[in-house]
Amino acid sequence: MPFAGSTSIAVPGRRDSLLHSLASRLLMQAVVATSLRNRLSILIYHRVRPEADPLFPSELDAARFDEQLTQLGQAFTIISLSQAVEGLRKGTLPRGAACITFDDGYADNVEVALPILLKHGISATFFLATGFLNGGRMWNDKVIEVIRTAPDSLDLRSLGYGQLTLDTVKARQDAIDMLLESLKYLPLAAREAQVDRLCGMLPDGPPGDLMMTSAQVRALHQAGMEIGAHTVNHPILSNMSPDAAREEIGGCKRQLEDITGAPVRWFAYPNGKPHRDYRAEHVEMVRAAGFEAAVSTAWGAAAPRADLFQLPRFTPEGAGQLRFTLRMIQNLTRTVNAA
Ligand SMILES: [Zn+2]
Repeated sequence: MPFAGSTSIAVPGRRDSLLHSLASRLLMQAVVATSLRNRLSILIYHRVRPEADPLFPSELDAARFDEQLTQLGQAFTIISLSQAVEGLRKGTLPRGAACITFDDGYADNVEVALPILLKHGISATFFLATGFLNGGRMWNDKVIEVIRTAPDSLDLRSLGYGQLTLDTVKARQDAIDMLLESLKYLPLAAREAQVDRLCGMLPDGPPGDLMMTSAQVRALHQAGMEIGAHTVNHPILSNMSPDAAREEIGGCKRQLEDITGAPVRWFAYPNGKPHRDYRAEHVEMVRAAGFEAAVSTAWGAAAPRADLFQLPRFTPEGAGQLRFTLRMIQNLTRTVNAA
């Protein structure tokens, strides 16, 4: 995508894009420059696909990720999570500090996102669920791939969902949304059983190369990226017994340290909404396991003296450049001080 300042000749349709670029850049620079010192914005990404996925047209592909990092760099100072935590502790955050994080451990983070991060000179943090490394699949991806590859009519009466008609892209999108919502908060074992039944309806299971291998985790670490823990099986911690939650948190840390040969200092709560997906007791477990900071998915920007074990993050969704800018600005307006 063209940016203001590029030497290319504007053609119809491109002029809008140039104007949007310029407006976005000026707006973002103005907000960062005028008011909000010492605020840390932490962005959450999941997948970065090589090209747009028709089932998820608003999700990120390589070109848009590259564009977002360029846009961010025009107004924000992108730093690593290590630098950000130190800056919060010492009150030395640069103006417009921002961190890039990825959750779950998709292989496309290494194959597609890593070269773009390196091009921009950015050290991002990757929160990995170790149970899915080396050929595993998260339950939501199993659901997505089953519905993506299912025939136009799928009988889910035995699972309690009736007969689904999947003859349009929209129908498949709606079916995915419905299934993910209804399965999300089931206890782990019940959810796995339902998803296994769903996968059993198709002759071929979902693809097995969606998540990173251990070698890819090492490659990220060796490329100067930071590795954080995101539990073993990505459960909702508040739905589990304390012992099981403790093992999910500590087991993931140990496994990642074995893979990288380095301390794993950061943790991301699965799903990450305070009080719903994790509680105060889980924050204490994360601290006791030896982590130095943790991130949630409560949106907002962290100020000095923010609770380092519940740093806010947000997903910068939205299609165009202007919308991305507005989302960054909106996030900056909500400051999170302490728990
Ligand atoms: Zn996650």
